[in-house]
Amino acid sequence: MPAESAPADSAPGAVYEVVFCDPPPRRWPRRESDYVAADSHRAHGARAKYVMERCRCGPCRRANTDYARERDRASRRPDGGAPAYVPAGRVREHLEWLRDGGVGLRRVAEVSGVSRSALTAIAAGRQRRLRPATGERIMAVSRRDGAAGALVDGAPTWQLLEQLLAAGHSRAWIARQLGSEATTPALQLRRERVLRSTAIAVEQLARRQGLGADRPVRAVS
Ligand SMILES: [Zn+2]
Repeated sequence: MPAESAPADSAPGAVYEVVFCDPPPRRWPRRESDYVAADSHRAHGARAKYVMERCRCGPCRRANTDYARERDRASRRPDGGAPAYVPAGRVREHLEWLRDGGVGLRRVAEVSGVSRSALTAIAAGRQRRLRPATGERIMAVSRRDGAAGALVDGAPTWQLLEQLLAAGHSRAWIARQLGSEATTPALQLRRERVLRSTAIAVEQLARRQGLGADRPVRAVS
């Protein structure tokens, strides 16, 4: 018996010990269609007996057939059960939603670990199917994952601030709500662009006050 056909689950020594105490035929039958191996530590009906001892009894054949069938099925499902690929439509919509929220593909790539080129292909609709695990990583990215220090268009933030002021909140109160710890908090925001973290904080504040629309926070370059 050639050494390389030793089963992975037993030590080579054990194979010699068992096989040679129950000597195999001098020559393996060339057409082994009805060869039945002697009893050994391998029970009939185990694929190992079919492979290692060339047993072609009914149970051993069935074990081998079942194994082959399962292996073929599994080879079509590389991750063993879940579909290998899923449609990319929902993920593409998520990327659009993130983009509208100022989270661009570069940032999605950083957060999700999915390559920029793959994300570009999905966003452009060139890649229509993807692995479920890839989709999950992308779907796990939220608008909150945008870089806090990124500058976004200040207009929606100022609209909300004006709504807050119109509702009777003082600038000092708003500044304090936004995290200012100054004794006399003042709102000091640029008009054109504000930090994403500020935009989000104002959005949350406005929502807590029952104000504001669901205006996306858009990144500006
Ligand atoms: Zn058998």
